[in-house]
Amino acid sequence: MRIVTASEMYAIDRYTIEQIGLSEESLMENAGQAAARVLLDQIKLSDRVAVLAGTGNNGGDGFIIARVLKSHGYQTDLWLIPLKEKVKGAAKVALQIYENCGYEVKSYIGNEKGFAEQLKNYDVIIDAMLGIGVKGEVRSPYKEIIDEINKTDNSVVYAIDVPSGVFADGGTVHTAVQADVTITMQYPKLSAFTFPTADYYGELVTVDIGIPPIALEKNTSLRKVWNEADVVRTLPIRKRSSHKGTYGKGLVIGGSRNMTGAVTMTAKAALRSGAGLLTMAVPNDIYSVVATHVPEVMYHPCSSMNGCFAGEIDFDNLDIDAIAVGPGMGRTLGTKSVVQKVLCQDVPVVLDADALYFWKDYVSIVNERKQATIVTPHPGEMARMIDVSIHDIEKDRFGISRQFAMEYGVYLVLKGPYTIVTTPDGKQYVNTTGNPALAKGGSGDVLTGMILAFMMQHANIQEAISNAVFVHGKAADVLIEKGHSPLDVLATDVIEAIPQTLFLLYK
Ligand code: ADP
Ligand code: ADP
Ligand code: MG
Repeated sequence: MRIVTASEMYAIDRYTIEQIGLSEESLMENAGQAAARVLLDQIKLSDRVAVLAGTGNNGGDGFIIARVLKSHGYQTDLWLIPLKEKVKGAAKVALQIYENCGYEVKSYIGNEKGFAEQLKNYDVIIDAMLGIGVKGEVRSPYKEIIDEINKTDNSVVYAIDVPSGVFADGGTVHTAVQADVTITMQYPKLSAFTFPTADYYGELVTVDIGIPPIALEKNTSLRKVWNEADVVRTLPIRKRSSHKGTYGKGLVIGGSRNMTGAVTMTAKAALRSGAGLLTMAVPNDIYSVVATHVPEVMYHPCSSMNGCFAGEIDFDNLDIDAIAVGPGMGRTLGTKSVVQKVLCQDVPVVLDADALYFWKDYVSIVNERKQATIVTPHPGEMARMIDVSIHDIEKDRFGISRQFAMEYGVYLVLKGPYTIVTTPDGKQYVNTTGNPALAKGGSGDVLTGMILAFMMQHANIQEAISNAVFVHGKAADVLIEKGHSPLDVLATDVIEAIPQTLFLLYK
């Protein structure tokens, strides 16, 4: 499933009309028909339906939906907001066709008084008022109408393309329709995968409106949902002829006196995800504590200072294929020096947690690297790395990710619900698994270990990262299905759910 921005969607439409030769009217007809088919499937003939149509293209879809529903005998009222005289372009043609069928249009202007009362009588409200063309805060009369729609509690609300008032590209919501279902045209828009906007969509249904693939390829950069089929297609197969060395020699670096658990979870998650051979490098001070927890790994104790890495790590005595560094390591000059040494190794490196703290001091080394660098911040860490607020990150997760990954030539994993994996050449893969059970300390440390292990088993780094993110989220989903509440899931439970999750995917 591909995801587009508003400007990409306009470019796709324009290309389809001007270069391919499908008329705007036929595209709109396809859109309206496709949405109507979903509605015919989902609503009952006895339902009283209101289609609230605006004057732009979104309204145009609404006229067609109203026509199809009426033709099928549904008790449907078409409300034009604010009034007929403002409708133009392809929408005007759709409205004319609706009227040519002998169907009535109810104008909001002139009926403002009783409108809120009337709205309560409908079982189904179809919001075709404002689409991806909305600019700024919603103005009157849409604002008042949206407030009324959100007050009705017995009706099911369907939004067409995007809920009215939600910007296609995401960002702050002032006034917007809270939909139960959003029927989106051809490609979901960014705001279905960012917050707070995603919450307004309800269930997302995507319909094909007949845009040819070439229009997509010519006008967008690759941005898609990495789904279960992608995972199943790309999960590594373990060969019968393999041995532990086939699946990589991994190194996990982290830990400090105050945080001994994080690095342990990273290592365990890597082991549960197929790492062949694993070594843990931890400060000397905590070595004996950590070692009692993970018997399957080898250890590389390093000099400590005040419970943290002192700065030394002896790579000459380590034979490794990939490194994950950061969990629980603290933020001292010693840890900074370790991370710098790590980045000078000619193997793929995953940077997480405290290893991101001194990011700006690593940039010149990262620029010199020949092997992949994978950076896995949560929004707070990302904000700090580029000196903006968390709010700025959340407003533009896709844009900021792409800019960062391309500028530094790294794989960026911007975490949170709908984690985005961006490749150094700007391709983006969105994850849809996971749930708020993961909103707990340690979840990210687990992911880091999974990314390390998957990377060592897979030639394609993006696939490895996206698969790790998918399985990590799905493990949390499996726990909820198996009787956990979102409150009681521990990061260690997520590790122990990796086997069942992989079992489901390998079936
Ligand atoms: P399109 O621009 O493709 O027709 P829409 O169907 O989303 O897209 O229509 C947008 C229409 O909504 C425009 O005609 C514009 O006049 C109107 N509009 C845009 N922003 C606002 C707003 N903040 N409040 C009220 N109306 C708006
Ligand atoms: P920690 O450093 O404590 O281990 P992070 O913040 O680094 O945790 O990582 C948290 C992990 O949990 C990320 O993979 C993130 O995507 C996931 N996560 C957190 N909250 C949610 C949520 N509400 N829905 C889905 N995934 C979430
Ligand atoms: Mg973390």
